[in-house]
Amino acid sequence: MTNPSPGPADPLPQSPSPQSRTAQSPSPQSRTARVPFGREVLPAEDGLPDDDPPPRVPVLIAGGGPVGLAAATELNLHGIACAVLEPRQEVTWLRPRAKTVSARTMEHFRRWGLANTIRERAPLPVSWSQDIVFCTTLTGREITRFHDAFGLGLAGGGLVAEPGQQAPQPLIEEVLREAVREAHYPSLFPGWRVTGLAQDGEEVRVTAEDANGRPATIAAEYVIGCDGARSVVREAIGARFEGNSGGKRSVNVTFRAPGLAHLVPHGPAVQYWVLNPAQGGLIGRLDLADTWWCIANGVGQTAGEAHAAAIVHAMTGTDLPIEVLATDAWTARMQLADRYGRGRVFIAGDAAHQNPPYGGHGFNTGIGDAVNLGWKLAAVLNRWAPTALLDTYHSERRPVGAETIAEASRNMSTLAPELADPRLMGTDEEFAAVLPSVREAVQRTKHREFHSLDLVLGYAYPDSPLTVNGAGERLPHRWIGPGDSLYDHLGNGLTLIRCDYPGYGAADGGLVAVARALAIPLTVLDLTGDGWAEHFGAGMVLVRPDQHVSWLGDRIDDALKLLRAAVGW
Ligand SMILES: Cc1cc2nc3c(=O)[nH]c(=O)nc-3n(C[C@H](O)[C@H](O)[C@H](O)COP(=O)(O)OP(=O)(O)OC[C@H]3O[C@@H](n4cnc5c(N)ncnc54)[C@H](O)[C@@H]3O)c2cc1C
Repeated sequence: MTNPSPGPADPLPQSPSPQSRTAQSPSPQSRTARVPFGREVLPAEDGLPDDDPPPRVPVLIAGGGPVGLAAATELNLHGIACAVLEPRQEVTWLRPRAKTVSARTMEHFRRWGLANTIRERAPLPVSWSQDIVFCTTLTGREITRFHDAFGLGLAGGGLVAEPGQQAPQPLIEEVLREAVREAHYPSLFPGWRVTGLAQDGEEVRVTAEDANGRPATIAAEYVIGCDGARSVVREAIGARFEGNSGGKRSVNVTFRAPGLAHLVPHGPAVQYWVLNPAQGGLIGRLDLADTWWCIANGVGQTAGEAHAAAIVHAMTGTDLPIEVLATDAWTARMQLADRYGRGRVFIAGDAAHQNPPYGGHGFNTGIGDAVNLGWKLAAVLNRWAPTALLDTYHSERRPVGAETIAEASRNMSTLAPELADPRLMGTDEEFAAVLPSVREAVQRTKHREFHSLDLVLGYAYPDSPLTVNGAGERLPHRWIGPGDSLYDHLGNGLTLIRCDYPGYGAADGGLVAVARALAIPLTVLDLTGDGWAEHFGAGMVLVRPDQHVSWLGDRIDDALKLLRAAVGW
């Protein structure tokens, strides 16, 4: 039982002690794999065995992208063994997709002891920039800008335990691969692909093959399909994507441009939106050396590959020699699976939902799926919750997926081509004449894309059967002391927070004894001092492993009923 006294309201987040919950020492890979843009292949895996998957495992995860690896990391927190099958031997560095890691995802990384590692390795420190710039070209005229984008400006405030972070997806995958390899319970099997599965009431039989077509069969109690947009697992459970698959097409270009940074007149920004009618899109830095990314809107694969350098020159507004490192064509999709699971098999991440990348929600939503499903599977496998708990994964997470798709689709409705007025490229007088209306249009249509904390931090499960009294929101964060988050004191099972002030101290209805009798892991956190009950809006809070509130109130009349509801009986 902890009994910390409250500290200053808004200290700067520093290295908190609970970061040491999981191993942090760098693996052999981590010494060499620091954002090696420009190299398609990482160094050899330092003798790590390329094992075959085991014949039997509690949980099999199809796909070791960010979501599959996150699910394995969450299961590890709860002591559940799993096997992650992933076709790619190495992380693909040259085609980084996501760069925006939300504040909420960073809070999950903090829970896993990985937030500091990600910040240390991220090529763009949060302090470097929190701005989005709209300009005619990267080296051209500035139109307008946004501050505090993507929750990057939250450092130092009390709202979150971790601000957002810009970090390329391969970096996230590399850190998670290392965590999975170092952790006790999960195992990663690169080079293996799931080919199909069949289930009965007892188990799931998964078929897989390696790169040479060598087959394997694995029996698992549960399967999570994190195998991306073309999910074999989704297909196998008969789930269908609903929605629109015919979104706008774009090409990403990763390029090296020595000297380009010195030509940018706008100062640091995490994204530069280029409103050049000749070629609109977004540009940003992948590191503070010479590696850049851009998204060119309205360009298909063939043109993107053939004209990548010309596209970059149009967007940067220079003829500077560049080296194209890779192109990556993609089409935005708005698709949601009609079911997130069947029997013992579930889907998460892009296998379950796909949204346009504008606003940076895709993998962040998938990490939320992984945490939600991870603790529930662990509770069932550790036998402190009924299998009915697993039904709430679909009912809690699918609405979040739907909300995210709607949000990202709204963001996509106005992109650079829609905002690019030809007069922006004209004389100084023409530019000055059109500037106010374009600036107004940008601010009106794009503000929300960069400031969506109500979705990122605010999604809740008020209608869930696990939620009592209409709670369900993320536990309101507060600092206990400098760098010492309230979240760092929560348990991996349920946590009962008791605020010690007159009237509430002894009203927990014997919840601790009831939890013990039901074998439900319960941490009790007594918070003393002023303001805690006001902070929560109640004297007691029952918190789930994913930091969402099961119940809050001032008195527990029926501890048995409350606990049974909270774990899905
Ligand atoms: C241009 C662009 C920018 C983006 N920016 C952002 C952003 O800033 N923030 C954000 O949150 N999201 C962003 N996204 C979305 C993000 O990239 C995806 O949501 C994310 O990759 C989904 O992760 P995942 O693990 O679910 O799927 P994936 O990343 O697709 O991973 C699936 C994994 O499964 C493996 N696999 C495939 N088939 C099998 C099989 N049969 N068996 C086993 N394994 C298999 C694959 O090799 C892969 O590793 C962006 C997307 C694009 C296109």
